[in-house]
Amino acid sequence: MTVQARILRLLRSIQEESGLSMLLVSHDLRVMAHVAHQVVVMYAGRVAERGPTAAILRTPAHPYTRALVQSVPAVRTKSALAHPLPGTPATPAARPTGCAFHPRCPLARDRCREEQPVPRSIGPGRWTACHFAEEVLDA
Ligand code: SF4
Repeated sequence: MTVQARILRLLRSIQEESGLSMLLVSHDLRVMAHVAHQVVVMYAGRVAERGPTAAILRTPAHPYTRALVQSVPAVRTKSALAHPLPGTPATPAARPTGCAFHPRCPLARDRCREEQPVPRSIGPGRWTACHFAEEVLDA
């Protein structure tokens, strides 16, 4: 953890001094929360959600993002409880029909199994690939 923190600090200082963009690929939401201004959440090789990191972690609009956030005590909101995600992750080589997340999604319904959601705008700078993002935001 100490080495990781040092490397992240170094990368960030290089990025700020040089004015360059930095693309960081990680499974660690805590890292993303501290380092990234923008985040793209991927599932089975497709974009599930993207936008400002703080907004996405505070109010996820995709059920997969919400499950990720709730699985990390240091990131999830105080009121949220951890709910383990059922099933096994899909892969790009064996993607379910429609929304690739539907076998594991608590909100899945017929449309999800038949129609692949494409990323759509749900607010300033925010995009999600979920047919029912508004329900996720309201939940
Ligand atoms: S499109 Fe349907 S299955 Fe996919 S994340 Fe949204 S609610 Fe769940």
